[in-house]
Amino acid sequence: MSQELLVIGGGLAGCEAALAAARNGVAVRLVDMKPLEFSPAHHSPHLGELVCSNSLRSDQISSAVGLLKAEMSLLGSGVMAAARATAVGAGKALAVDRERFAQHLESQIAAQPLIQRELARVDSLPQTTAVLATGPLTTGALAEELSNLTSSDHLHFYDAIAPIVSLESVDMDHAYWGDRYGEPGQGDYLNCPLNREQWGEFYSCLIQAEQVPLKDFESPQFFEGCLPIEVMAARGEKTLLFGPMKPVGLEDPATGKRPHAVVQLRKENAAGSLLNLVGFQTKLTYKAQDLVFRKIPALVGAEFVRWGSIHRNTFLDAPRVLDPHQRLIAAPHLFVAGQLSGVEGYVESAAMGILCGVNAANLLHARPLLTPPPTTALGGLVTHLQNTASKSFQPSNINFGLLPPLEGRVFKRLRGQAQARRALADFLAWMEAGGLIPAGDIPVIPGEDS
Ligand SMILES: Cc1cc2nc3c(=O)[nH]c(=O)nc-3n(C[C@H](O)[C@H](O)[C@H](O)COP(=O)(O)OP(=O)(O)OC[C@H]3O[C@@H](n4cnc5c(N)ncnc54)[C@H](O)[C@@H]3O)c2cc1C
Repeated sequence: MSQELLVIGGGLAGCEAALAAARNGVAVRLVDMKPLEFSPAHHSPHLGELVCSNSLRSDQISSAVGLLKAEMSLLGSGVMAAARATAVGAGKALAVDRERFAQHLESQIAAQPLIQRELARVDSLPQTTAVLATGPLTTGALAEELSNLTSSDHLHFYDAIAPIVSLESVDMDHAYWGDRYGEPGQGDYLNCPLNREQWGEFYSCLIQAEQVPLKDFESPQFFEGCLPIEVMAARGEKTLLFGPMKPVGLEDPATGKRPHAVVQLRKENAAGSLLNLVGFQTKLTYKAQDLVFRKIPALVGAEFVRWGSIHRNTFLDAPRVLDPHQRLIAAPHLFVAGQLSGVEGYVESAAMGILCGVNAANLLHARPLLTPPPTTALGGLVTHLQNTASKSFQPSNINFGLLPPLEGRVFKRLRGQAQARRALADFLAWMEAGGLIPAGDIPVIPGEDS
């Protein structure tokens, strides 16, 4: 028997890592502090607690998160088994009974003879092979050690996410390429102008828009350099016009005139198919964002692949501190899984837990470590964590923009299916090459006529 694997944190990522390593023949010690101690968001004594919503989002394989779930099931995911067993009706989404879900996951852990559970809070980074999966509210001594190891610039305690749109959905009749405030450059910014009247409508909609209430443990103190746009707007019209919506140097080539205000969009991925709204981090509700951001003429019909948000969230600056197998470059015996590694969401956290569990087992068995192909949903998450092009790394949900574009022309309504078809073929080939046996049936992707 190889050396034991330590898994710290029994949330979604930690449970998956422990189960995956055990399935691959490694003895695991799974340590969680609950119910001795709870983070401010955790309340249940069970492992695998869903801290908020009971939804694991779309269950359709033609959506990015549906595809990720299919890949996880092929890898034998405990979270997916628990979700299927405890699902409640939710249309095209997969939602669960949270209490039964956690009990199911916990019973899978209890039934696995290679996993030993331990009740303790871990305060220091281990010296032996381990998976760190302590989640978005990792605090205290462990966070401090991580911060020291990676340098404090590389461990963040809040995410400040600006909305992201797909380039193809921007109305180019109301947008033009340029540079940051007219500085010489490669024309990397897509400028979305507003005239005085459009600005007035946008601004009045923004200052009235509904905001997400702060949780008890979230401080209303925002960094001055990273203020939510609604906070800036509340300081007066000029704050935005001299801030992220400053039009200086951004003359519209169609009119030769300077617009009243400009929203700049910046490339979010290497392919340039996704763009973020620069400086538009926000705590507005998704519904309010849908209303406010569509007042920007270029974005009236835009596809928002991610809405903006600001959360208390501990996460690593993954592109700079993790290697391609989610190990700390400064301590390669430590894998980082889940939200702490820089992915966002229940499903994504669990998925990265499986990958870390498989690779930790491979490491302990002296077998090569595996990287899923970039065309797959799991590979797309790895691509995001390794995206050194982004200077200010922020966590991401899975979306098709993280995968390379499809080759050739594919009708928009068929793109999800085409992505899923390509991904599954590549995923199964990858599993076979890595000696991983698919669990359960190979999913069927609906055809063009269905
Ligand atoms: C308030 C809040 C609401 C959220 N709502 C949603 C939502 O609705 N949908 C969604 O998809 N995502 C949501 N998220 C994100 C969500 O946390 C992650 O998606 C997911 O739970 C992360 O899984 P994880 O396994 O990485 O961490 P967690 O699920 O947080 O698990 C971490 C585990 O580590 C344990 N632990 C922590 N520190 C230590 C230590 N030092 N020693 C021992 N054990 C430790 C904890 O007890 C916990 O069991 C929310 C996050 C927060 C904070």
